[in-house]
Amino acid sequence: MRVKIAGMVCAALVLSSALWGQDLGPHFKKIKDGIYVQVGEEGNSNCGIIVTSEGVVLVDSGDTPIDSREILAAVKKLTNQPIRFLVNTETHGDHTTGHWVFSPPALIINSDGAAKDMQAAYRPDRMENLRKQSPEMAKAAEGYKMITPQVEYSDKMTLRLGGKTIEILHLDNVHSGADSAVWLPEDRVLFAASATGPRRLNNIRPTVRIADIRRAMKMMKALNPEIVIPGHGAPGTVAMFDESEAYYTLLFERMNAMIRQGKSLDQIKVELKMPEYASWGNQDRIPNNIEIAYRELRGGN
Ligand SMILES: [Zn+2]
Repeated sequence: MRVKIAGMVCAALVLSSALWGQDLGPHFKKIKDGIYVQVGEEGNSNCGIIVTSEGVVLVDSGDTPIDSREILAAVKKLTNQPIRFLVNTETHGDHTTGHWVFSPPALIINSDGAAKDMQAAYRPDRMENLRKQSPEMAKAAEGYKMITPQVEYSDKMTLRLGGKTIEILHLDNVHSGADSAVWLPEDRVLFAASATGPRRLNNIRPTVRIADIRRAMKMMKALNPEIVIPGHGAPGTVAMFDESEAYYTLLFERMNAMIRQGKSLDQIKVELKMPEYASWGNQDRIPNNIEIAYRELRGGN
């Protein structure tokens, strides 16, 4: 029996080293040839690494300074090509703090208004708190300074590098002040930003409309990706769009019924339950989701 278990463990290890980027460490997953993801621990942000014969493109820059340094080390193991571009899927610090590790030389790209939004949303305490986490984190944070995107585009831009087509698509009003998806049509791999995540509830900012999130998910699903890499959470498929869509449909249905019964927002927040989604992460975000949905159902923005 013991021998059998040892054999199974051994097979599992072989399988996991085949699935996870070999030699890159346990945080990295190989998605396809030349496409890797550092999957953030405990729901931290993901970072994509796209390797071509004419340079590397990163998608976001790691949640913490240790993550960013790990990404740089992984790129050096994969290629001697430089990191030429770094696409931001959003403006928040958990996706953008690590810029200084890569830029220069990398040029940072996000949609219109990204630099201004990053500056407006800048929280110096984020890096202060990270530094206090451990001496290793403080060391990794050495030399930190905030770097904002140098390149902004309005609707869509295309990078052609080493035979790879990399489309950067603006997602309007889905999460932060500037959000971008990254689509590799030949590989059918989509980096879907933080419009949604697998089996987790979104923290929907006051300026965001659920209608815009649903529209963006529909657009991204229509690209017909084989693999979808969310801003946070495990890489998966378009099922994460379908599941999110079903959640919002049910939320709106229940809220509509309660509004018809004359219930107030406060009453709805107390009474509305979504037991079908009890296993999803970030349950504390249901009241936030209700508030945003209520505003839209009452015809506000
Ligand atoms: Zn965010």
